[in-house]
Amino acid sequence: MKPFVPKFIKAKQQGLLHEKIQQSTALLSSCTLCPRQCKVDRTKNEKGFCSTGEKAVVASFAPHFGEEPQLVGDKGSGTIFFTHCNLKCVFCQNYDISVNGMGQEADDGQIAAIMLYLQKIGCHNINLVTPSHVVPQILRALDIAAGQGLNIPLVYNCSGYESIDTLYILKDVIDIYMPDFKFWDPVVCEMCCHAQDYPQVVRKAIKLMHDQVGDLKVDKNGIACSGLIVRHLVMPENLAGTHHILKFLKEKISSHTHVNVMSQYRPMGDAGKIKALSRSLTTEEFQKALKMARDLNLKIIQ
Ligand code: SF4
Repeated sequence: MKPFVPKFIKAKQQGLLHEKIQQSTALLSSCTLCPRQCKVDRTKNEKGFCSTGEKAVVASFAPHFGEEPQLVGDKGSGTIFFTHCNLKCVFCQNYDISVNGMGQEADDGQIAAIMLYLQKIGCHNINLVTPSHVVPQILRALDIAAGQGLNIPLVYNCSGYESIDTLYILKDVIDIYMPDFKFWDPVVCEMCCHAQDYPQVVRKAIKLMHDQVGDLKVDKNGIACSGLIVRHLVMPENLAGTHHILKFLKEKISSHTHVNVMSQYRPMGDAGKIKALSRSLTTEEFQKALKMARDLNLKIIQ
């Protein structure tokens, strides 16, 4: 078996990473980095829906042991939580970070230093949490860190509300995509995230991610090297449309899709203001969703 080499190393050696940095940075001056298409000039620190200007803001970084087992191993997944979000679900479990903006601005060199630190302490990967609105900043940091020896897989851990153009830029850079697939119904998406187009966007995005990285692959120790993991948070009253989503993954993506069916919905953030979102998931609702995934024979991560 050939030793694993993260995609960004080859991209850097071939000069592709520099091209991708230029392409993504160019999107900031009339920002179209994500489907919100705010067209604000982030190079002048103007802020759109994601409330982020020129610099990325980092809420925290640490080895994380609560992620999927294939990412965690014995040393943890090297998470970098980026502040703010381009989706801002009303029930976000990290509301202080995604909406209230808790975090510190970090320049490219500081983000690179964080990546190298997480590798140094043994993390199995760099897990970019909520990265969609700071792709250029991440790529510039990656270029610095790769030049100083970063060589662990890169995980793009996102909401799934991604621009196709930005995903093309990320081709040959990201090793593991880990998008959410949150909702099937546009009306529910509008209510929860002010993004009626989320279902059509996420379907295209996951298809493209899978085209780029394929099904999940692990090394001899069971640690993920490349591929796709989809997260799906089961919602009360079947608001998420779980069966449609799981069926789509099985039939349109791959029958080997790894899916984390998640049970932890709680009415956080502004969820209490919306009746349908104002209670936790019941055990029965979760077990029903899990059975759907089992019946479809998807690769369930728990
Ligand atoms: S990244 Fe932010 S500013 Fe740019 S289009 Fe998306 S939400 Fe708007």
